[in-house]
Amino acid sequence: MSTNKVLLKNGTVLLHGASDQVESSRVDVLIVGGNISKLGKDIEVPRDAEIIDCSHKIISPGFIDTHHHGWQTQLKGRHGNELLLEYLITGNYQHAQYTVEDVFYGQLAGMLEALSAGTTTVVDHAHITVSPDHPKLGIAATASSGVRAVYCYAAMDRLKSFNPLMLHENALEDWVMQTFSELADAAPFGNGRVSLGFAWDLWFIAPELIKNAFEKVREKNIRLITTHGTNFFSVLQFAKKFGVMDSRLLVSHGGDFSKEDGKLLREAGAHISATPSTELQMAMGRPLCFDAAFLDPDASVRRSAVQDRASLGIDCHSNNAGSIVSEARLGLQNARNHFNEYNIKQGKGHDLPYSLSVEAAFNLATIKGAQAAKMEKEIGKIAEGYKADLAIFDALSPSMIGAAQHDPVAAIILHSSPADIDMVVVDGIIRKRNGKLLPVNVDATAKEIVGKETLEWHEIAQKILRSREVIQRKTEDVDVQAGVESVRKIWHISENF
Ligand SMILES: [Zn+2]
Repeated sequence: MSTNKVLLKNGTVLLHGASDQVESSRVDVLIVGGNISKLGKDIEVPRDAEIIDCSHKIISPGFIDTHHHGWQTQLKGRHGNELLLEYLITGNYQHAQYTVEDVFYGQLAGMLEALSAGTTTVVDHAHITVSPDHPKLGIAATASSGVRAVYCYAAMDRLKSFNPLMLHENALEDWVMQTFSELADAAPFGNGRVSLGFAWDLWFIAPELIKNAFEKVREKNIRLITTHGTNFFSVLQFAKKFGVMDSRLLVSHGGDFSKEDGKLLREAGAHISATPSTELQMAMGRPLCFDAAFLDPDASVRRSAVQDRASLGIDCHSNNAGSIVSEARLGLQNARNHFNEYNIKQGKGHDLPYSLSVEAAFNLATIKGAQAAKMEKEIGKIAEGYKADLAIFDALSPSMIGAAQHDPVAAIILHSSPADIDMVVVDGIIRKRNGKLLPVNVDATAKEIVGKETLEWHEIAQKILRSREVIQRKTEDVDVQAGVESVRKIWHISENF
């Protein structure tokens, strides 16, 4: 079998310099197998290489999404006017309504939305461990999609009933960590693209159980552990108590992150994932990805600057679009708003600092994401020896024209949409071409459920329509308000939320 070779010619390539500044350069990119083999002017065309003319194209590193619940596709559109507690009922706990087939198609479609938006790596906080088979199909879908991912297997609260809302007494039944061990032994999946991580939010169960679970995680050499930060307590203090406050840790959100938390995070070499759309909508605090959002006197007392440890995530594509560029834009403009207001109140003239530049936003979506996913030696930038994970923009589209030629980074961060992404490459393989997703090869684990070898997007869309209808019908029987009150009691959440 001949090795995959692709030569991208005449593109404007976004390269990261030594201090992370981004420079655009007219160089060719040679991809051999899954890697960027060579960058340079007029690279000689190797035998068997496919040549792709990238004139009037911007070649960007693929984007990195460090917090996503990929299974939730069937729930899209529900949360338009919801806050966090309602979302917990109509989103989070909907895992109880999902069959393994629902998980497969939900996850697959979620990953394809991400790919179509130029995301090439996803850290999935996969809280869909309803049975031993649910995560297996979640992984199979992730592998089938073609995206690179860390599938963070979640040991999680499972719902026993909706009306009244009740959780299973024993979240950690034997099969939960047994299935984790099996999957850890079988990983990686999808020709090495999908590795196994671990997701944990069960900080209030018996300490012995927590210790045993993390012991298993250490035994299996898991290099990424993710957990939801909250407004209600400091997850970092729990992580410290249970011996996982180290460089493996990736905290989503951050909630009421204190200065002490910031110090702990930095000393440990841990990272955070900010998800501007859900955080701004659902009263989860200001996104921690831009320090300048915390300049006003009240907030700066409680907050610590952690932009250097930050990255970006989608969180729920059931709530907002699955585009990391959109999240970078929203986070940036929100932080600029706080910064500008603060300075105007102080009565002083000001310029936007570098930390609020389009380049800083672009870096959160690329190299900072790679650091948070603990993969900075492999992904996040275009460099020889790095993975060939690319998002290629059309510089002549109605949105990009003019901006792309003047400042490609500003064009991506402020002007682009997924429709401007002409091509997406992951691991050297083209997954989107001429603006359209290509068919996917179904992973072996899902062949029985799918009943065929490949799937085109329109077939996946049909499956989502049917699966969504069934889940929606089941949801109509759920008393959301009673559920919210139960969650308040279970989690000791005040009336203010
Ligand atoms: Zn989340």
